[in-house]
Amino acid sequence: MQHHRQRAKSLQNILFILFLTCISGALWGQVERQGTIFENLKLPSANTTWQRLSSIQLITSLAVLSADSLEGRKTGSRGNLRAQQFLVRQFSAFGLQSFNGGFAQSFQFVPRSHRNYGSGNGQQSHTGINIIGYLPGQRNSELAILITAHYDHEGIRGGEIYNGANDNGSGVSAMLAAAGYFSNQLPDHTIIFAALDAEETGLNGARAFVRNPPFPLEKIALNINMDMISPAADSLLYISGTDHFPQLSKYVSAVSRASFLKVVQGHNSLDDLEDWTYSSDHAPFYYHGIPFLYLGVEDKAHYHKPTDTFENINQPFFLEASEVMLELLINLDRDLSRLHLQSGRQ
Ligand SMILES: [Zn+2]
Repeated sequence: MQHHRQRAKSLQNILFILFLTCISGALWGQVERQGTIFENLKLPSANTTWQRLSSIQLITSLAVLSADSLEGRKTGSRGNLRAQQFLVRQFSAFGLQSFNGGFAQSFQFVPRSHRNYGSGNGQQSHTGINIIGYLPGQRNSELAILITAHYDHEGIRGGEIYNGANDNGSGVSAMLAAAGYFSNQLPDHTIIFAALDAEETGLNGARAFVRNPPFPLEKIALNINMDMISPAADSLLYISGTDHFPQLSKYVSAVSRASFLKVVQGHNSLDDLEDWTYSSDHAPFYYHGIPFLYLGVEDKAHYHKPTDTFENINQPFFLEASEVMLELLINLDRDLSRLHLQSGRQ
């Protein structure tokens, strides 16, 4: 039985590599020619608690998104465009549907952060591109869960590539894996998958989504945002949001008990830790009263440094954190209508 399962899994892995090679086309060729990806692509032997997601898919997506050829995925850059092409091919391959005839949502923004961005002219308008798709709910397609993860990062600075493997190749890869999972087992409620741009310059992709929502905001019952779920070292996985939305706490407690990771609720006002309520893309949705859970880690060693690379991430942690997110998603999807009713938002 075990043996049979192993063989099925290897076959699945081989098929996935073939599939990815085909769909990624020119981009994959480019990445492969860098000569680093497959050599360094060691899969961890550690098993995850639920074993629902393909580890080869998770690791390969992360390797692609954090490859040097994507040049740190800075908004408006060539590398960012390559990331978009990869995401669109993945969304298409999983059979995701689009809202307006295409997955891309273009928007204008003025950078808000003080980080080194562009020419330094803070008033200059820039263009960002969100990549958004969805799978319709089988029981109730009018009510949705929105999964978000930003795919932009810092680009190249001082001649060094800021690969952004943890920040946030990790969250985007987990989101893609969830899309792959639900494309085979359609969800009860609609799931919207949004790879957001221009987070690093002030949550601009999330703000654009809220300004111009492709799905009615009052029918988005929940936002699950991932930003940095693959730290370098062993770490705590924080799930933030339950201080604001205590009705979600029991779902987090359940995954926390089951997982071998230390899954901790916090960083959202009721403890002494830094408050993360406004620190990533869930904030604009929270402003609109949409309940959120944010998954992330403290990463003091490599945060916004050129050392945030594929080679430096803790792979077993990343795989398990992705499974934690999926388990939450499955349980919340099952109860979504009731949760939304209780929230009084409809
Ligand atoms: Zn980030």
